[in-house]
Amino acid sequence: MKLAINGGKKTIQQEPAELFHWPIVTDEDISAVTDVLRAGTMSGTVITKQFEHEFADWMGMKHALCFCNGTASIMAGMWACGIGAGDEIIAPSMTYWASAAQALTLGATVNFCDIDRRTLCIDPNDIEHRIGPRTKAIVAVHYAGHPSPMDEVMQLARKHGLKVIEDTSHAQGTLYKGRKCGTIGDVGVMSMMAGKSFAIGEAGMLITNDREIYERAVLFGHYERTGAASRFNASDNQLTDPALQHFAGIPIGAMKGRVNQTCTAMGRVQLKHYPARIQEIQDSMNYFWSCLDGVPGIKPHRPDYWENSTMGGWYYPQGLYYAEELGKITSEVFSNAVNAEGVHQCFPGGNSPLHIHPYFHDSDFFHMGKPTAIAFGQRDVRQGAGTLPVAESIHEITVAVPWFKHLDKKEIELYANAFRKVAEGADQLR
Ligand SMILES: *Cc1c(COP(=O)(O)O)cnc(C)c1O
Repeated sequence: MKLAINGGKKTIQQEPAELFHWPIVTDEDISAVTDVLRAGTMSGTVITKQFEHEFADWMGMKHALCFCNGTASIMAGMWACGIGAGDEIIAPSMTYWASAAQALTLGATVNFCDIDRRTLCIDPNDIEHRIGPRTKAIVAVHYAGHPSPMDEVMQLARKHGLKVIEDTSHAQGTLYKGRKCGTIGDVGVMSMMAGKSFAIGEAGMLITNDREIYERAVLFGHYERTGAASRFNASDNQLTDPALQHFAGIPIGAMKGRVNQTCTAMGRVQLKHYPARIQEIQDSMNYFWSCLDGVPGIKPHRPDYWENSTMGGWYYPQGLYYAEELGKITSEVFSNAVNAEGVHQCFPGGNSPLHIHPYFHDSDFFHMGKPTAIAFGQRDVRQGAGTLPVAESIHEITVAVPWFKHLDKKEIELYANAFRKVAEGADQLR
């Protein structure tokens, strides 16, 4: 069949926008939000605390603490894990900047490691040789909804006395061998901004079973929860540690982390429906991939090799791309041809690798006349291009695929047909 990019007939004539729309917002969300607006309680915390309780219950965790965004929750989690000036953390290079960049603001540095070609998550074989005397934590990012290899990460962390921070921004509801991502390490942190699979506007969440981490995270960003009353919130001391109470009333990070209750009111509604909605996403994405079974060049990014493991809400779904099976046509040529068939969501996948970004090399946040990455006596673990080959090849080894929200088999088949047609007609692209 002649490919559309070469003048053939397009596989998809009209994109069904409803199939991709997210988040799903109903009158229930709208009235929850407008109730907050009418009551004028945007800066209150009563609804936020209800949301925290419900979220902790759903995750099966003792503590949940909401933040104004994921970035803030991750920074609080890092500080709560004891990361400070002169320390190092290990994080995968393939992630959004907010999985790691806050370490510099704390005076620490990031020793980036590579990712695994199948999981696109931290490569457990590229961790141990990076551990030094000042290494404090490993950040595991459940990338694009895929669980990280937590058994290996936890084993290394326990062996070397490191904390594990799970960035679960892409993976609320993802299962790793039957356990929810975010609940396995010392602390789970995550974004809930409007583009994520758990999408409630601008919000973040920290979950932990460790009372000390919880209290330190409270102290970091939630001054009202350390004893000081405000116009919107009564005095409400959640600290039991006397050493922390010493600073009550002023967040020790000097960064206010309180979330707008319009978001957490929406969060309570979204949470009720989330398990069913991500189940439908899983059914839809799995159906899409089943239609592409045996097609050369593209395979699901999915933990088929682990029992009882899922892709959660399947945020930013990726296909693993194998150019060598398609006569070496690049992911860019492939995705342009797929899009010409009427798909609009196909492009070389992933994020930009962080280890080569100038921020981690040259930024001088503290005005010390030298890069923050080495300003506090850290080892110089900065790495240039060519050091983390898998992360650096991400655009060549992945293509973004459509993120279906509804199990509309007829439509999904059309999309799969577009991918199949291009893969099977790849010789027309050479
Ligand atoms: C979105 C995202 C964040 C940051 O969250 P915000 O809510 O945007 O601050 C952190 N880590 C990852 C992996 C993300 O995708």
